[in-house]
Amino acid sequence: MSFDDDLKSLLSDTQRFLRQQAELYGDSLLISRSAVETPKEEQINEKAITTNRNLSMLREPETELFGDTKKIKKNALNLNFPAEPWVSATSIPLLNQAINTCTKCELCKTRTNFVFGVGNPKAEVVVVGEAPGAEEDAQGEPFVGRGGQLLNKILESIHFKREQVFICNILKCRPPNNRDPQAEEVELCEPYLWKQLELINPKIILCVGRIAGQSLLKTNASLTVLRTKVHDYRGIPLIVTFHPAALLRNPNWKRPCWEDVQKFRKLYEEIKAKN
Ligand code: URA
Repeated sequence: MSFDDDLKSLLSDTQRFLRQQAELYGDSLLISRSAVETPKEEQINEKAITTNRNLSMLREPETELFGDTKKIKKNALNLNFPAEPWVSATSIPLLNQAINTCTKCELCKTRTNFVFGVGNPKAEVVVVGEAPGAEEDAQGEPFVGRGGQLLNKILESIHFKREQVFICNILKCRPPNNRDPQAEEVELCEPYLWKQLELINPKIILCVGRIAGQSLLKTNASLTVLRTKVHDYRGIPLIVTFHPAALLRNPNWKRPCWEDVQKFRKLYEEIKAKN
């Protein structure tokens, strides 16, 4: 191998490493300052691994200094619904009708379809992803591309059919070139998801990917940290695992994902047994 070949191979290894780190830990500011909640141990963890974010700018000074407090925890999942008519929708189809012409952010200009979500409006399980990609934008349905095929397989592996669950995203419109959602887009769009979850009232939620978990839980914690526990979304247990697209890029994450979804199924069984 020539020196050039060595250099090329080093560069491509470095790129792959950086992409994986971004997948797990993120590389941009997503959550607005007031909404951030980061427990102490996660701050330490994140400080050690995050190189390109100034975390002190993301948090209220008290959180930066003292970490998790009850006050912040309580406020973190306060849902501030806008004063808009769709908020009083009484069913999933009516909500869809009321919001699918949304023009609140710039993404409405480039979308082909508003991707509301799909599945059983009375589902016991809701799966939350990040945002529609090209296929989803074209068809108006979440997770229909290659990642969607893999998601279906993941669900089947834990004995759920796609039609049985409800699948949706944090953002309802495709960000151009599949870039990460911007903080303002999340802020404007997430109330739609809160309302979907309120109407469906599932027994358990599965967030696929760091961005879905961070947005719904209002935290900056890395995917590595998010995966370590069962979270509480307004009284509903929530588990975070890898995004299917990340598994396509890094098949070595399939095994830990499989372990996450086994835990998810077990928890679902336990919840069902209690009711
Ligand atoms: N990725 C997502 O997060 N959601 C989709 O609907 C498709 C790809």
